[in-house]
Amino acid sequence: MTDHNFSVQQLLEMAACTNCQMCADVCPAVKASQKGDLSAVARMQGLKKILKRRTGLLRKLFGVAEPTAEQWQEFSNSVFRCTLCGNCHEVCPIGIDLKELWLSIREDLVNVKQFPKKINMIRNNLEESHNVFDEDNEERADWVEDMRAAPDHGYQKDRAEVVYFTGCVAAYFPLAQKIPIALAEIFEAAGVDFTLMGEDEWCCGFPLIGAGLKDLFQEFVDHNLEAVRAKGAKKVIFACPSCYAMWQEHYPHEEIDIAHASQYLLELLQAGRIPLKETKMTVTYHDPCDLGRGTREFDAPRDVIRAIPGVHLVEMPHHRENCLCCGGGGNLEMIDAKLSTAIAKNKIDDVLQTGADAVVTSCQQCVRTMTTYAKRNKVPLQVMDITQLIKTALGD
Ligand code: SF4
Ligand code: SF4
Repeated sequence: MTDHNFSVQQLLEMAACTNCQMCADVCPAVKASQKGDLSAVARMQGLKKILKRRTGLLRKLFGVAEPTAEQWQEFSNSVFRCTLCGNCHEVCPIGIDLKELWLSIREDLVNVKQFPKKINMIRNNLEESHNVFDEDNEERADWVEDMRAAPDHGYQKDRAEVVYFTGCVAAYFPLAQKIPIALAEIFEAAGVDFTLMGEDEWCCGFPLIGAGLKDLFQEFVDHNLEAVRAKGAKKVIFACPSCYAMWQEHYPHEEIDIAHASQYLLELLQAGRIPLKETKMTVTYHDPCDLGRGTREFDAPRDVIRAIPGVHLVEMPHHRENCLCCGGGGNLEMIDAKLSTAIAKNKIDDVLQTGADAVVTSCQQCVRTMTTYAKRNKVPLQVMDITQLIKTALGD
């Protein structure tokens, strides 16, 4: 890990940091831990110190020592205790591409073997099972068996117009499986010709990028693209914002249209294909980091919510670009579950300020993180994905 691992642009951006600390003010990890060393500005300072000690010429000329084990540990701790929420990136007045920087640093730390042990688990799980939880990949579509009236083909057709890419969390976590079940029922009601890929769906690769394991990533991209092409699909739908963002950014998909579920639901609603009944509820909307700040989709989910007769949408103090992270991103839950929970607490506090009956989001991981916090702490709040809200409002 030396200057050469960073682009000229990244080195110039780091040198331009004005130390204004705005990134620290909005960082959910700093707020939850009350530790300034988790902030973007402190992390960059740590990086500069490490780079100084690793630059060959300086070491030769001035006899500068390599970073000590303690210095590596301290730096690595900060790097992997970040949810990759992108809020620092959003507010940085000089536009430093901080999110990309965090990903490059993770990759470099993996290369120099300075990373938490859990990273090895992520690598092994994905290499061996093609999903992040080390489950049997053949069971990826087993949630279909929990549906009230699933067809014999179990939504695994040879060919279909639309592929629904479920993602690992929705495929395996019982709590999150309600999302694909809801989406499949909505697709049925709207007459969408869709298929799942079952065991042919592999993880989208986001946990690999987030863990700094980019070397494995391409195999996952190639496999998933081939599996989608084999279905002859024109469109791929994702209810998971991280899968959607990965496809948008890293999958060459010129011939395939991709959309997040909220965008496709809006399309179906506007075409009058989803019958809705009046549903009296006051809800607030949580922008998932990867969908909102990541892909700049703030409006489609809100338009879907507003399209349901009887549903009243109220906003949280922090919403859209400034939405607080739920604590579930960046593999943080695996690295430091306590910090992830403390971040979720601050999120739920923001939700409760609205007085809404439910917080609706568009992400299986956000649903998991917020539900787990609310249940464990007996917070009387419903947490639901936008697909679940639409399913609740499905008319005849
Ligand atoms: S990405 Fe989010 S958690 Fe990470 S440093 Fe930036 S604001 Fe903090
Ligand atoms: S917001 Fe940007 S310029 Fe300000 S301290 Fe953070 S990284 Fe530096």
